[in-house]
Amino acid sequence: MLNFPKKTIIFLKKHLLKQEKEVEKQLKGVKEDDPVISPALAESSEPGTDSYIADSHTKTLVLEKQLKDAKTGIGVALAKIKSGTYGKCENCSKYIEVGRLMIMPTAQYCISCSQKPLKRR
Ligand SMILES: [Zn+2]
Repeated sequence: MLNFPKKTIIFLKKHLLKQEKEVEKQLKGVKEDDPVISPALAESSEPGTDSYIADSHTKTLVLEKQLKDAKTGIGVALAKIKSGTYGKCENCSKYIEVGRLMIMPTAQYCISCSQKPLKRR
């Protein structure tokens, strides 16, 4: 059972879906900017810039991972909304503060749990 007003959930869901689209768009852009994947970009760079290509490829991978993680987080949050478990802290099972979810709809921990180091599983 959720302790959030339905309006809040609808708002957050819309926000999450918008974010998901944005992340997908960015993921696509990231791949196009990768000189390893995009030969045209690699050719246009200065000769002897192998390290530049490798460097920006690494950056691309890091960014891609961040975006994929964000997408996963959004997917998890949306699945939780669907199943009615959204907004529960993964650590203490208490409800996450609405204000926190408004700023970070993918938050999985309440404010107090996110501030103390979590027990490693
Ligand atoms: Zn908690």
